[in-house]
Amino acid sequence: MTLHCSPEPVEALLARWRIESREPICAYVYDLDALQRHVRWMREALPHGCELYYAAKANPEAPVLRTLAPWVDGFEAASGGELRWLHEQQPAHPLLFGGPGKLDSELVLAAALPDCTLHVESLGELARLAAIADGLDRNVPVFLRMNIAVPGIGDTRLMMGGKPTPFGMDEQDLPQAVAMLREHPRLRLEGFHFHLMSHQRDARMQLDLVRAYLDVANRWKAAYGLDFAVVNAGGGFGVDYADPSASFDWLGFCTGLRGVLDRHANGLRLRFEPGRYVSVACGWYAMEVLDIKRNHGEWFAVARGGTHHFRTPPAQGHDHPFRILRGNHAPLIEHERVTLVGQLCTPKDVLARAQPVEALAPGDCLLFPLAGAYAWNISHQNFLMHPAPRMAFLQAESMAEEVCYVRAGGPNQLGRTAASPSSLPSPTQAT
Ligand SMILES: *Cc1c(COP(=O)(O)O)cnc(C)c1O
Repeated sequence: MTLHCSPEPVEALLARWRIESREPICAYVYDLDALQRHVRWMREALPHGCELYYAAKANPEAPVLRTLAPWVDGFEAASGGELRWLHEQQPAHPLLFGGPGKLDSELVLAAALPDCTLHVESLGELARLAAIADGLDRNVPVFLRMNIAVPGIGDTRLMMGGKPTPFGMDEQDLPQAVAMLREHPRLRLEGFHFHLMSHQRDARMQLDLVRAYLDVANRWKAAYGLDFAVVNAGGGFGVDYADPSASFDWLGFCTGLRGVLDRHANGLRLRFEPGRYVSVACGWYAMEVLDIKRNHGEWFAVARGGTHHFRTPPAQGHDHPFRILRGNHAPLIEHERVTLVGQLCTPKDVLARAQPVEALAPGDCLLFPLAGAYAWNISHQNFLMHPAPRMAFLQAESMAEEVCYVRAGGPNQLGRTAASPSSLPSPTQAT
C-alpha cells in the first residue's frame, strides 16, 4: 500500500452530480474512508516510541481533522489562526504551535491552552515567551526549533536547514537559550524540533537525518545537563505526483526506524508531524470542460474552475496528473495533445501542459488526483470573483456532507457554513 486512492467513489458521486446539476461541475471531493485507511496504515507501521501529529496547514478542513483525530497524537499549527481553529475543532487533542513570526497575543493564547507545546524559533521569541510565562501560574512546554547542518547530508533544493533560513535557531544560540530557560522556570524544555527537509523521497536519507537529530539531542542533553524526553523530527515526507508509487517509502522508513531507535534514542521518544503525505491522496479536484479550441496550432481545453481553486500545479511547477470522465458528447478532438486551463484571465492558469488525450469533448470532466494537501487552501480564491467549488466529503456511513464556502470580509475570514439542504442538491442522498 502506498499513496493510492481509488477514483471509484469519487467518480460515482460525479456521475450522479452530472445528472442532477444544471451547472457545469467544479468541485473538491474528499474521500474520508481512504484518508482513514491511509492514516491508520501510517500509524500502525510506526514503531513503539514514536508519535504522529498532523501538520494542519496541509489541509485543515474540519472533516479531515475529524477523520484523523482517532489515529494521531495531536495536531500541529503553523499560525495563530490555525491554532484557534484546531483548538475549536479538536479541543481534546494536544496541539503544537510552530512557525516564524508569532505575535505576543498568539504566544499568550498558546500558553493559556490546556495542552499546547510551543516550538520556539529564535532567541527573541524565547525572550517574549519568557516574559509572558513569568506571569502565569502554570508551566509552558517548549521545544527549541534548531537549524543544524548534518554532516554527510548534501545541500539539495529541498533542504530547509543547514543553511541560512528564517526557520529555527542556530546552534551558536543554544547556550544563551539554555540560560534563559534556567532563568524562567515557567518555561519547561520538553524537546528539540527539527524540520530540515521538505519533499523528501529518500527514506534512507531521512533515516540518516533522524539518527543525526537523536545524536545531537543526546549530545546537548549531556553537555547542558538537560532533562527532556522528545525529539520532533518534523514532516516533509515527499509525494511523487507523476508516479505516486515512487513517493516516500513509509513502510521502509518505519522498518529502518526500529534499528535507529534501538541504537540512538537513548530513552528519547520520536515525534513526526507530516502534512502532505497524510492528506494528499484523499482529495480530488474536478472541472467540467467548457470549451475546446485550437490557438496557433495548439489545443486548449478550458474547464470550469482553475488555479484560483487548485494552485498546486503552478506551486509545484508540474503538469498535474488527471483522468478524463467522458460525458455524452462525441469527441471534439482525438489523439491530440491538449493544455488544460481554467477560467482565469492569466496565462498562468494552467493545470497541465500539452497532455496526450485519446478523446475529449465539452461536458467531459477532468479529475485531478492528489489534491488533498496544499491545494484549495493555498489558492488565491478571491481572484476574479468566481464562485467557490462545490465541496463534498465522502464517507461510507453518511455518504457525504457538504460545506459551502461563503465569502466574507478579508482573506482570513473565509466564512464556513454548512450548506442548507435546500440551497444545494445534497449528495447525502447518493448511495
Ligand atoms: C510544513 C511543515 C510541516 C509539514 O510538512 P509536510 O511537507 O506537509 O509534511 C511540518 N513541520 C513544519 C515545521 C512545517 O513547517
